[in-house]
Amino acid sequence: MQLRIPGPTPCPPEVLQAMSRQMINHRGKEFGELIHSVTAKLKDLFQTKNDVFLLTASGTGGMEAAIVNTLSSGDRVLAVSNGFFGERFADIAECYGAEVKRLSFEWGEPVDPEAVRQALKADPEIKAVLVTHNETSTGVTNDLGSISTIAKGFDKLILVDAISGLGSIDLPVDAWQCDVVITASQKGWMVPPGLAMVSVSDKAWQAHAEAKMPRYYWDFTKARSYLEKGQTPWTPSVPTFFGLAVSLDMMLTEGLPNIFARHARVASLARSRAKSNGLSLFPDEKYASNTVTAIKAPERLNVAKLLQILRDEHDVVLAGGQGNLSGKIFRIGHLGWVTEDDIKEVLEIITKVLPRARS
Ligand SMILES: *Cc1c(COP(=O)(O)O)cnc(C)c1O
Repeated sequence: MQLRIPGPTPCPPEVLQAMSRQMINHRGKEFGELIHSVTAKLKDLFQTKNDVFLLTASGTGGMEAAIVNTLSSGDRVLAVSNGFFGERFADIAECYGAEVKRLSFEWGEPVDPEAVRQALKADPEIKAVLVTHNETSTGVTNDLGSISTIAKGFDKLILVDAISGLGSIDLPVDAWQCDVVITASQKGWMVPPGLAMVSVSDKAWQAHAEAKMPRYYWDFTKARSYLEKGQTPWTPSVPTFFGLAVSLDMMLTEGLPNIFARHARVASLARSRAKSNGLSLFPDEKYASNTVTAIKAPERLNVAKLLQILRDEHDVVLAGGQGNLSGKIFRIGHLGWVTEDDIKEVLEIITKVLPRARS
């Protein structure tokens, strides 16, 4: 099977095998060694010296953790959004009582850093900026380096949903001064769902000390004090830790620059094959993501039918559009355990079945 959705992604056999072993005591010495080693390797791959925590949750749990640990009800927040996941980040902040100002861009367009500057200039009360690095719903990667430079120029806290980009697309967390950065095991990390990984900067800790949003399961103070003992506050997804220990070693062996280059090659192949087969990309190629390719549904194409034929007859699983984009685009995930040959094959099959998927 070719599971080519932007998460969950396929897992190498070594990872699956590691996950099938017997459980261990999550308050014992062996788990302590495991969590310390996994955390140290994650810091390398996050390119950070900040704290990194592993939360047993999907990515959205990590997004909620970022918000409730650094903000108080009534805080003004600039939610920069250019898609489905940007809106989700804003919704979570709103749900906990933040005064959210949305800076929204057309879906398929990138965030304009200059508009972020204008919004911050216009409203000095803003405390934090929420932003999506790689907008999975539209296949757009935002210019996070410029956005964070601007946010830091105004001394704002910057919380980053990097769920579908970190470990696949370059995001130097410390160099770009990102305060909380979130990712999740089932995206570029080649591991099943189960863990959200978050980094927390000194500035985020300062905000945390004053933040009053209610939190219990997500509390970073608890996460930090348990990590000192080689534990997590609550029972962790132990099998996902086993899998991650293996996948992180694979990633460190390949090396970050090579991983980024492989994702760039695979994505470039996906885009060029799509175009040479007469398909159009949804976003402008300048901003197209290296982890997910969004393709415009040609006139008269029935996306649901296309996905069904691919799944039933070829064991290829792709994603449709989310929210407003349902029926208008389809998406190929190419992050984590993926090669150029995988994507060549997927594009060949798409081209073959396309004529039969008209409505
Ligand atoms: C997948 C994803 C999420 C949501 O993650 P879940 O693990 O489904 O909670 C959030 N943001 C982005 C950008 C994603 O790609």
